[in-house]
Amino acid sequence: MFDSLSDRLGGVFDRLRGRGALTEADVRGAMREVRIALLEADVALPVARDFVEKVTEQAVGQNVLRSVTPGQQVVKIVNDALVEMLGADESELNLGVTPPAVVMMVGLQGSGKTTTTAKIAKRLSGGAGGRDRKKVLMASLDVNRPNAQEQLAVLGEQTEVATLPIVAGQQPVDIARRAIQAAKLQGYDVLMLDTAGRLHVDQALMDEMKAVADIAKPQEILLVVDSLTGQDAVNVATSFSEQVPLTGVVLTRMDGDARGGAALSMRAVTGKPIKFAGTGEKLDALEGFHPSRIAGRILGMGDVVSLVERAAETIQQEDAERMARRMEKGQFDLNDLRSQLQQMRKMGGVGALAGMIPGMKKAQAAVDQAGGDKVLLRMDAIITSMTPKERAKPELMNAKRKIRVAKGSGTTVQDVNKLMKMHQEMATAMKRIKKMGGLKGMMAMLG
Ligand code: GDP
Repeated sequence: MFDSLSDRLGGVFDRLRGRGALTEADVRGAMREVRIALLEADVALPVARDFVEKVTEQAVGQNVLRSVTPGQQVVKIVNDALVEMLGADESELNLGVTPPAVVMMVGLQGSGKTTTTAKIAKRLSGGAGGRDRKKVLMASLDVNRPNAQEQLAVLGEQTEVATLPIVAGQQPVDIARRAIQAAKLQGYDVLMLDTAGRLHVDQALMDEMKAVADIAKPQEILLVVDSLTGQDAVNVATSFSEQVPLTGVVLTRMDGDARGGAALSMRAVTGKPIKFAGTGEKLDALEGFHPSRIAGRILGMGDVVSLVERAAETIQQEDAERMARRMEKGQFDLNDLRSQLQQMRKMGGVGALAGMIPGMKKAQAAVDQAGGDKVLLRMDAIITSMTPKERAKPELMNAKRKIRVAKGSGTTVQDVNKLMKMHQEMATAMKRIKKMGGLKGMMAMLG
């Protein structure tokens, strides 16, 4: 996610921060590069232009250029503008006050609509590892695609979320009526309506969607779009929002979207907030969309809050808190690296943590390149073969000790060196967080 943009911007800002004093020309030069980086990330042209104009105007101000840390200030201005472009405050689902709240899902065929319906239902219901404790009912109104209703029923079983019994031959508006009645009578908090997909924006289906919305009076109408389609996703959102009062957008396949153009332009072009990001095929691969955290990720400052949150879901609360405290102090020894690696395995393998923690992206790339989970196990073996003292004080690891550890873990000295190097990079990143004033300082800076 946002990898190439993050790399490009990282280069630009490292150069800016590397200098003591900045001139207006320096800032303008850097902003030209920012503009190119945004366009390469497939951000809509007018959005990129506005962004750069706004940032330049603020950044060439005398207060910035004459300040003690002009480079840092420019980064902060870019960060704030990014957060604004992504939608400032994060958007939670609005479930209203009188249940059942109706959440209607709309979108093109294949966008991931049915999967996302189940993901959101799971998250709301607390079923099979979900977070909240709402009573959720799902109903498929898709009578066009064969087996669409059965597909939702299967997902309901997997997520332990109830689905409306299927009545053959019933039409969408009638199914919606029956679903609302069932939700009311049986005391459901939330009713999720999965509507028929369409191949393109098609009038008959749009009319059907409007008829359903009329009787279901949804609290939320969420459009599901595939982030991999880039600016097309933004165009689809624009056409849908002309027909139905969308309340938000869910971007799927963010796991495969290295450029991020749809995510970056969606809010600015359509005015609709992104409420969730789909990050994989598994039914828990759904994340809230938090503009300030995403800006932090893009600017390479790591998304520490998401990391700690994600960790808290998977591992013991105390572990997560301990980790947060150590990060706060800028500490990171081999025990910490080991628990990171173990979490990487627990959290659905390599990939889960990419980009969330400073320095982790590089570690991730190294692990991926070397063959994923197998490497994690090997690294774990290396750390296990060390003495507790060595784990707490990695600087003890001299050549002799490395040979011993390599033998003990059935690896090579080269493997041990690689692990030590990865640790070194992450420890440096932790120190950098501390310099920014710890987690709190970093969060403050991120806005
Ligand atoms: P629908 O036609 O819009 O209802 O699409 P489906 O929900 O049937 O999804 C189509 C395919 O996309 C399925 O194979 C899903 O597993 C996959 N999919 C959905 N969301 C995501 C996502 O966020 N990431 C990835 N990698 N695949 C997804």
